Amino acid sequence: MRYYIHTFGCQMNVADSERLASALEKLGYQMAEQPEQAEVLVVNTCVVRQSAEERAYGWLHMVRPLKERRPDRVVAVMGCLVGVKGNEGLRRAFPWVDVFMPPADPRPLVEFLARRVDEGRAVADLERMVRYALQDEELVLPLSERGRKVTAYVPVVHGCSFGCTFCIIPYRRGPERSRPVGQVVAEVRALAEQGVREVTLLGQIVDRYGKDIPDGPDLADLLQTAHEVEGIQRIRFLTSHPGFMTDRIIEAVAELPKVCEHIEIPVQAGNDEVLARMRRGYTVADYRRVVEKIRCRIPNASIATDIIVGFCGETEEQFMDTYRLVEELAFDVVHIAKYSPRPGTVAWRALADDVPPEEKERRFRVLEELYERISRRKNEALIGQTVEILVEDRNEKGKWFGRTRNNKLVFFEDGDRDWRGQLVSVCITAAGPWSLQGVPATPPSRSAA
Ligand code: SAH
Repeated sequence: MRYYIHTFGCQMNVADSERLASALEKLGYQMAEQPEQAEVLVVNTCVVRQSAEERAYGWLHMVRPLKERRPDRVVAVMGCLVGVKGNEGLRRAFPWVDVFMPPADPRPLVEFLARRVDEGRAVADLERMVRYALQDEELVLPLSERGRKVTAYVPVVHGCSFGCTFCIIPYRRGPERSRPVGQVVAEVRALAEQGVREVTLLGQIVDRYGKDIPDGPDLADLLQTAHEVEGIQRIRFLTSHPGFMTDRIIEAVAELPKVCEHIEIPVQAGNDEVLARMRRGYTVADYRRVVEKIRCRIPNASIATDIIVGFCGETEEQFMDTYRLVEELAFDVVHIAKYSPRPGTVAWRALADDVPPEEKERRFRVLEELYERISRRKNEALIGQTVEILVEDRNEKGKWFGRTRNNKLVFFEDGDRDWRGQLVSVCITAAGPWSLQGVPATPPSRSAA
């Protein structure tokens, strides 16, 4: 019996899919390379923009003939298309789907499959099987990935209760819930035992970690505790919101050797009126101050941001404020998105989507060109320097790759040795806007290899 999971969307979805895969493997399923080879087909969906939602529909239509050819195949949909509020509409639109799963909840499919595997089984046995498949501390890497995977995501805050006017996520992932420190750390420990060397702690607003727990720990406390896990060499976290990035968190990044100098902190727009319409809860000056603090305390920090172009009412001048901010702060990474009205959000209800599509496209390109220029310049400055990378894998062309502490992608060639999971000093020899090339600076002695 085999399963196939297709994942759209954010890192949180990747983490959710990983957990589902782990549960399915505990039920005895194995990963298939192609959807046609699988008895269980799952799509993990994203609806953050219309285009993402359409990709999910496209996938569901693609698997329809597979289901019709073999009706005993199971088709399941997970994630933000399903949401936490029921799915009658989806059931009607996609009658060939057997199971709907809210984000981060593999239970519906696990129960469905457990029942199918052995219909004659006693209820108590079924429950035991489901509990085993979903066991929290083991709900980490699928068996097939243990000892192979170097990096892993760990959700630490589920959902979101912040009301950005453009964003559908709170409606689909439910209210903010922080996981207890003990649970997170047990998971990090399990991952380390399964061979993982780098974990990325995830939350829609990860710097709000613990705020929903009375007298709760904060992200700095969590980083500190995770830092003690043996075997883990690097810790990252995302996504931060500028309004919640405290000095304590910045201090933790500066002080804790395993915590990498990379902060993902979306600004969304570089103009105060636009930020107010988005209800982001900060001004451009506030944002600048946070970035200054980060750069002051963590001099080599890289900073990534998200920007929405063409939000409701955004004028050319307001867009240019964003452009100038990107230029001024010289971000290391800029994720740019064209505004897409999302049903149910405040902006969709109350604000006009009045920037024409061609204009959104133009602003997108203008900003992307600027980002490419900045990125190329910053990467070229690394030529001749030695950086530490954690090697993740080898690509189809045989090149090893990994990331620097501040999250830059580096490729190098060395066919003689298995570098996976190793920290390697690499001297940078060439740079483009999106990646770097290098050679290992301190080749280990062959006898030790
Ligand atoms: N929780 C994070 C963002 C999660 S969504 C935060 O607080 O910033 C990831 C990114 O998608 C957002 O940062 C935003 O840039 C983009 N995005 C969200 N809703 C969007 C929409 N309706 N249209 C276009 N881009 C959107």
